[in-house]
Amino acid sequence: MSKNMCGFLGIASQETDVAEDLYLSLWSLLHRGKESSGIVTYDGASYHPEKGMGTVEVVFGGDTLSRLKGRIGIGHVRYSTTGESSLKNAQPIEGSFKSTPFWIAHNGNLTNTETLRKECEERGYFFKTSTDTEVIAALIYFSGAPNFEDALKRALRKIEGTYALTILSKDTLYAVQDETGNRPLSMGQGRGLTVFASESAAFDVLGIKYVRDIKVGEIIAVSLESPLLPSEIPFRNRKDAPERPCIFEYVYFLRPDSKWYERRAQVVREHMGRILWKECPIEADVIVPVPDSSNFMGAGLSKESGIPLEMALFRSHYVGRTFIEPVQARRTKEMRIKLNIIPELVQGKKVVVGDDSIVRGTSIKRAISLVREGGAKEVHVRISSPQYISPCYYGIDTYRVKNELIAKNHAGNIEEIRKEIGADSLYYLSLEGMKRAVTDARDDEHRALQFCDACFTGNYHIPIPQEIITS
Ligand code: 5GP
Ligand code: SF4
Ligand code: MG
Repeated sequence: MSKNMCGFLGIASQETDVAEDLYLSLWSLLHRGKESSGIVTYDGASYHPEKGMGTVEVVFGGDTLSRLKGRIGIGHVRYSTTGESSLKNAQPIEGSFKSTPFWIAHNGNLTNTETLRKECEERGYFFKTSTDTEVIAALIYFSGAPNFEDALKRALRKIEGTYALTILSKDTLYAVQDETGNRPLSMGQGRGLTVFASESAAFDVLGIKYVRDIKVGEIIAVSLESPLLPSEIPFRNRKDAPERPCIFEYVYFLRPDSKWYERRAQVVREHMGRILWKECPIEADVIVPVPDSSNFMGAGLSKESGIPLEMALFRSHYVGRTFIEPVQARRTKEMRIKLNIIPELVQGKKVVVGDDSIVRGTSIKRAISLVREGGAKEVHVRISSPQYISPCYYGIDTYRVKNELIAKNHAGNIEEIRKEIGADSLYYLSLEGMKRAVTDARDDEHRALQFCDACFTGNYHIPIPQEIITS
């Protein structure tokens, strides 16, 4: 079974071919996955798919884009931390309904994949991939519904877990948000384009406006003929499923310039830094964030404390996010070339090193040892999220490393973790503080919104089947 964190989008244009716009906006989602990339367009008569391993620039080099004709299409960038990063699992995934193909791009993770997959196989479905996304395709295939839209609704009623989707069914583009709103999905419009994308940064790159997020349980569509079809909220499978967007998106995943649930990620991160400082101030000479994910929480620490922010840790941009690499050995090797220290900025100083999260501890250990190499007198670590104690089963993929979670392995003993990472002091933002940072970033009805925080609390709002927990 393949699970992954991804970026995806769909574009419909009233005027021009969309391949270039798809390509450009996939660039803005590259931080969400670089293992494989895919685009499929529809030109009114046929589909034009192109998928490959690697980043968008690798897959869509040369004259590939000019072959992808059509005013409507979807795209996807993917990573998984498993060895299953093969071309066959690259998205979008093809399905078929009443002998007519359609294509799906998915971010999230279904929790009842195995059961549904078995059911479909018993009915004779031949799966071409090991993705949970193809299970959705199979359910559409078997739905027995009179038309595609009803087939989609029937399929959605059967799946559990998290899913934000774009689907291309000939000249219609659908966007679907799951019943808990867990994975980000927003809509942008402008220049005759309607765009559904994982992050609003994709709209900026196209020079169009962020309109709104796709709502929980919402299916919204656009076709070559119509800029926007009436939206429907036809399903909320489980009455007890609460709206729970992923709080970790604000901690780490979203690009700082992206907006989700009316909150700019940069603003939330700065709040996190400020609250973190209020919870645990310390006398120090300089604040050094671990770039780039902690730059804005670092700014918050600095603004709140009045202590100068120095970018003493330098990150090379020619290496991707280390965590994205599927192989541990490659990760560690890439760490060395990825981060370096500017010693003059820390020499003889009491340094506060800020990072957004500690998962396995690899990044923070490296940062601390570099700051020490640079001659720091003391190194105090401040983390802008609580202890990461429980794996994510909803699409962030840390269940693969569930035995390596440092906070879990030390049963939350801060002193032990501090020693293991080699810091002079260590403090994690409280759960309350993290929630307040997200709440404070917004001052209207959205304040009441609750977020998924299962990786920090172990409270899974969508139950995780035992066989997944023990697998
Ligand atoms: P660690 O090195 O402790 O395993 O992971 C924490 C570091 O990786 C932090 O610097 C954070 O910015 C980043 N990070 C945290 N969680 C994730 C994740 O789920 N995926 C990716 N790509 N990076 C992560
Ligand atoms: Fe996000 Fe954590 Fe919930 Fe996963 S478990 S959806 S990473 S908050
Ligand atoms: Mg980081």
